Amino acid sequence: MVRRRGTILILATGGTIAGVGEIGKSTVYRPGKLTADELISEIPEINNIAPLETMQICNVNSDDITADIWLELASIINREAKDDNVKGFVITHGTDTLEETAYFLNLAVKTKKSVIITGSMRPATSISADGPMNLYQAVCAAASRETEGQGVLAVFADRIYSARSVTKTSTYQLTAISAGRMGAIGVIRDGKVYMYETTNKAHTNKSEFDVSKLDRLPKVSILYFHVDASPELLKYAAEHSDGLVIAGAGAGEFSLIYGDMIRTLNVPVVVSSRVDDGLITSDMLRVEETIAANNLSPQKAAVLLRLALTVTNDTEKIREMFLKY
Ligand code: ASP
Repeated sequence: MVRRRGTILILATGGTIAGVGEIGKSTVYRPGKLTADELISEIPEINNIAPLETMQICNVNSDDITADIWLELASIINREAKDDNVKGFVITHGTDTLEETAYFLNLAVKTKKSVIITGSMRPATSISADGPMNLYQAVCAAASRETEGQGVLAVFADRIYSARSVTKTSTYQLTAISAGRMGAIGVIRDGKVYMYETTNKAHTNKSEFDVSKLDRLPKVSILYFHVDASPELLKYAAEHSDGLVIAGAGAGEFSLIYGDMIRTLNVPVVVSSRVDDGLITSDMLRVEETIAANNLSPQKAAVLLRLALTVTNDTEKIREMFLKY
């Protein structure tokens, strides 16, 4: 079958946007039940935007997304982007880990074509479900010239966010996918896309990470510091991981005994913060050998560390990557 010019590929992975449950209810449902074709059949207007093609990658709660699925998504996008008839991509995804998939793809796909990720907070069977509008707007964004070359973008509740900044900020509000204090970089109204800002960080074609030959990603564990946090868990995690991220208190801090244990570990350790507006710079590190996450959240820092470890184990080089991406 020859594709029509301007085709948007919808890559569906599941989540609440594909969720089905008790009619009218927002909380009683099972995510990842409807297929991509069923989702678009609920929005007839979506076919007026562009020719659409769907691919069902998986149909899971996004907490069951794995690095294998990330690698498959990256490989499909990198392959299909070479087709001149493909204009862009929309990924439907659960909101819990949407930010991690967005940031991974932002660093792993090599295309200037539009790549948009979206989801919903209410299942398809709830009153006033937000999935149809989010999907409609995501397709509008993917069909727009404005989103080309901007890296992976998230579209949610009328707003457009960069993959690096997007995060889940509420467990129930319709605007849960946002970017905290970093804000949106564009908006969508009645299908029209208005982009206002671009990201300053390297992504897609400017990213050095080539995942095309990988069949697995290095394993990284996140350790959450709290009063009386056990240093023994650090030791255990380091023995079972290729790298660690610490969700430190305040500006990436932890107890003296935690620091003593970190000094004994022989895997790279990135220090982030459990505070949602956290910024850790190299001069603030309590343990010299560690790597500052800058303003990446622990979960985003883990994504970047996994990719960094595909290239190097060198602390200085990884530090540079945490400033570049
Ligand atoms: N647990 C769901 C998921 O991440 C939540 C959602 O999609 O909003 O798949």
